[in-house]
Order: sequence, then structure tokens, then C-alpha cells
Amino acid sequence: LSDKLSGILDKLTRRGALTEEDVNAALREVRRALIEADVALEVVRSFTDKVRARAVGAEVVKSVTPGQMVVKIVHDTLVDTLGSEADPINLEAVPPVAILMVGLQGSGKTTSTAKIAKRLTDRERKKVLLASLDTRRPAAMEQLAVLGKQVGVEVLPIVAGQSAVQIARRAMESARLGGFDVVMLDTAGRTTLDEALMAEVAEVKALTNPHEVLLVADALTGQDAVNTARAFDGRLGVTGIVLTRVDGDGRGGAALSMRAVTGKPIKLVGVGEKMDALDEFHPARIANRILGMGDIVSLVEKAAQTIDQEKALRIADKMRKGKFDLDDMREQLSQVEKLGGMGGLVGMIPGIAKMKDQIASANMDGKVIGRQIAIINSMTPGERRNPDVLKASRKKRIAAGSGAKVEEVNRLLKQHRQMADMMKMMGQGGKRGPMAGLAN
Ligand code: GDP
Ligand code: MG
Repeated sequence: LSDKLSGILDKLTRRGALTEEDVNAALREVRRALIEADVALEVVRSFTDKVRARAVGAEVVKSVTPGQMVVKIVHDTLVDTLGSEADPINLEAVPPVAILMVGLQGSGKTTSTAKIAKRLTDRERKKVLLASLDTRRPAAMEQLAVLGKQVGVEVLPIVAGQSAVQIARRAMESARLGGFDVVMLDTAGRTTLDEALMAEVAEVKALTNPHEVLLVADALTGQDAVNTARAFDGRLGVTGIVLTRVDGDGRGGAALSMRAVTGKPIKLVGVGEKMDALDEFHPARIANRILGMGDIVSLVEKAAQTIDQEKALRIADKMRKGKFDLDDMREQLSQVEKLGGMGGLVGMIPGIAKMKDQIASANMDGKVIGRQIAIINSMTPGERRNPDVLKASRKKRIAAGSGAKVEEVNRLLKQHRQMADMMKMMGQGGKRGPMAGLAN
């Protein structure tokens, strides 16, 4: 019987799967949006390949069109590619921690150096020393001194005639003697990539052993951003990106290009000339901006809503029938995780409000949910459908696979059992229609 069942399920899935033609048709539109958003061509290509691999064969939810489904996958892939939400500057090293700022001339290095110094001082109570290694432009050192004063951060005194490397050495010594937490080294830039300059910065890097090498890049440079990023990363080993002039960029393509080419996180974005015009990077916002070139954003939202609702209803249906396996639990956990709490889910599953307290007491905060999903992911499909087979040796394997303790696996299984029981109980009042037992 179960063979027959899975045969039917297979067919259903196959009928509802995205075909190569569906995907290619939708991707033509997406490619246009990416190019309009000024994403570098090579990144457009690799990105659409990635989407194609994910999308072909993916199941289409009943009430959205194949095109909408592809767009949803594009959006999710874009957010994944753009990276995680908060990637703070890493200062976990023995102080004074050096941060090396690199990038082309005019990209916003000096401005960003002062902005970041202000942020570290105000928000993290760090004692920061600024030093300009820009020996090439006479006004550059003065500029950093002015900005430092403006944000109330100490600046290494200017000594005429020193090389960048000499200044860097002096900065590290002063920081050590003065008990500074952080030394920010603002380097010179050229308008184009330049070997002499790269060699100089590499020497500074070797001397100061910076914990972060931040590439400052102008969001408006578009296609060139890729070559710049690749050159700096290849030569200096960039640890993160600061994207500037995002305030003047309606398109967002540079963020994707930089991230895709270097694989390095975009740590902060500059959104103006003022010293507090520095923001955290929000991938979803940029993804919307990139796809916003067409009318794609509203499409995505609509598709996402339908998809979530559909899944929620499917779970509700299973609950009613008293079938609630670990696949369903995983689905539900990830919905809860995605919606940032129970609120959204409660809205979607009729009658589930009653379970709210139980679920809350079951310890469903974000971190726990992530671990629980990881545990379920380490199970085989058969185990997820039929958790009764989970005896000690399998539990041990699952724990090892998900980096959890066996007790956590047990706790998850217990919680699943409780949920399944509760749902069965609720389902038995169901003679008057779906979820009727919950309505009182
Ligand atoms: P550097 O040559 O890399 O040190 O670049 P600067 O820090 O001197 O910046 C060059 C110009 O860009 C200055 O006029 C800055 O005020 C401006 N700038 C820097 N970051 C931003 C930003 O995020 N938004 C805007 N609108 N202007 C910026
Ligand atoms: Mg400068």
C-alpha cells in the first residue's frame, strides 16, 4: 500500500514540477531585471545558472503560476547569495586590533573610516585611534584629522615625510602605549588599480596583521566593481565590504556583484555624507531593490504569501487527520522561524491560536528552532515519516549529524509526540468541518 501511495505522490509532484521551459521563460525576465539593476554580466550569468539548478523540477504550489514560483525562487536565492543579515565588524583579537581600509580613490574610505570609528566608539565603547596612511594626497591626512575631531575620535598626529609603512608602525606603537582597543588604518587609493599601491598596502598588512581588511567600494561604479573587488581580494585578502553611496543608488546591483565575486560579507553600507549615515546591510531590502526593476516585488510577495498559506493549510489538513510527521513539524518550525514568531502562523491556520501557549512553552525561540530543524534534517525521509523507528543507535547518528546532544533529539521527539497527540485530539471534534473542534 505504501508503495502505491508514494507512487501517486510522485506523480502529483511530477505534474506540479517546474519544467525547464517554465524556468527559462521566467529567467529571461529576471535576467533583464538584473542587468537593469547594474549587476555585472558574469554575475548575472552565474546567478541565473544557480537559480535554474534550484528551480527546474521544484514543486509548484497549486495556486501560483510557474512564473511566480520561479520568481520566488529567484528572490530566495538572491537573499541567500547576498548573505546574512547582521555581520558585525570582528574585533575578537588581542587589542589593539587593526582594521585596514582599502579601495579605490574616491570610493569613500576616509569618510567610512570616520563613520565606523564613531560607531565603534558610541555603540561599543571602544577606544579607537585613527591613522591616515595616505601620503599621496596632501589634503588626505588633514581630512581624516578633521573628521576625527568631528566624531570625537583620536587621530594619530601627522609627521611629515613618513612612508605609509612607517606611519602604520607608529600607529600600532601609539595604540599599544595608549591602551587603544582599535586602530583604523585609512590607506591611499588610486583612481585605477595600481601595482605600486597594492604592494604598499600589502606591506602595511604584513606589518600590522589586521583583523579586518575592509574593501570600501562605491555602489555606483557598477560593472567595474567586480574587477576592483577581485583585484583587492586576490592581493590583500579582504574580510568584508563596505558599500558606499547606496543613498544614490536605486538599483542595488553592485551589492550582488561584490558579494558574488568575493564571497565576502557586506558589513556596512554608506547612505550619505554625514557621519551617522552608515547602516547595517539588509539583504532582503537590496533583493527587492534589484528585482524591483520590473513589477517583480509584488509578485514575489503574493507568491510567498500563497505558498506559505498553502503549506499552512496542508499542515492543518494533516493535523485534522491526525497525521503529523516530522516533515510537517519541520515545515511548521521553519514557518515559525520565517515569520519571526507565532503571530503570522496563528493568522494562517484557523484555530491554532489555542496552541499558542503550548508552543511558546515548548521553547520556540529562534536559536532553538534552528537547532531543531537541523536535527530533523539529519534524519532520513523514512525516519521523518515514522519516528517510531528511532532507537538509540539512530538517535546517536542523528545527534552527531546535527551537532546536537542525544538529549536534544529526545526532547524534540517528545515535543513532536505531544504536538501530534494534541492535534489528534483537536481533530476528533472535526465532524462539523475543518478544525471545528478548535472553534470554541
Ligand atoms: P576616499 O578617497 O576613498 O577616501 O573617499 P572619501 O572618503 O574622501 O569620499 C569621497 C566623497 O564621497 C566625499 O565627498 C564623501 O563625502 C563622499 N561619500 C562617501 N561615502 C558616501 C556615501 O555613503 N554617500 C554619499 N552620498 N557620499 C559619500
Ligand atoms: Mg581618503
